[in-house]
Amino acid sequence: MAGKLFVVSGPSGAGKGTLLAQVVPQTNSLRVAISATTRQPREGEREGVDYHFLSDDKFDELIATNGLLEWAFVHGARYGTLRSEVQALMKAGEHVILEIDPQGARQIKSSYPDAIMIFIEPPSLEVLSQRLHGRGTDSAAAIELRLANAAEEMARATEYNKVIVNDDLSTAVDELKSYIEQHCGNQPESNNYSAAV
Ligand code: 5GP
Repeated sequence: MAGKLFVVSGPSGAGKGTLLAQVVPQTNSLRVAISATTRQPREGEREGVDYHFLSDDKFDELIATNGLLEWAFVHGARYGTLRSEVQALMKAGEHVILEIDPQGARQIKSSYPDAIMIFIEPPSLEVLSQRLHGRGTDSAAAIELRLANAAEEMARATEYNKVIVNDDLSTAVDELKSYIEQHCGNQPESNNYSAAV
């Protein structure tokens, strides 16, 4: 039995990670693929749990050996989805979620048109600005850049199958969970993902 491929994307600070951290444990047979990145681990992050933290050379090697389903530069570091990771999960019949930036999401959509694309949107750019400032992890210049990127990304939300506005967290969690469950059902339809990845 092959699983389905979900892509959860949206601007930095929209709350993709927070939403998935709540939804995934509540859903059967749904796994988040651990991405590779060249950025440094933040305090508390663990290798192989939050990311596979790789050197630039190792990341180059993965690109050269076609080991990534997609990759992109995001805020100064490289991030990519490991082909091996997704392949193993799907072969085991798990439904897989990729939590990736919109550049990567577009690459997945063009390689796997049947991927179920979900866009997480902040209620407004003003709210996003407040969240990014509140997080305290970025300089004012970095926040300006993220907001400019977010405006462009939000203009392309119509390319996705579903847009979820993350205003009230528990409402957004319920909406995401029910959308995913609606697509998983008990008996995933047959598809070509396993062959494709
Ligand atoms: P952070 O460094 O805050 O964990 O993530 C920064 C951004 O990189 C987020 O928007 C996140 O969704 C994105 N990201 C994480 N993993 C991947 C990946 O495998 N591919 C792409 N394209 N983006 C990713």
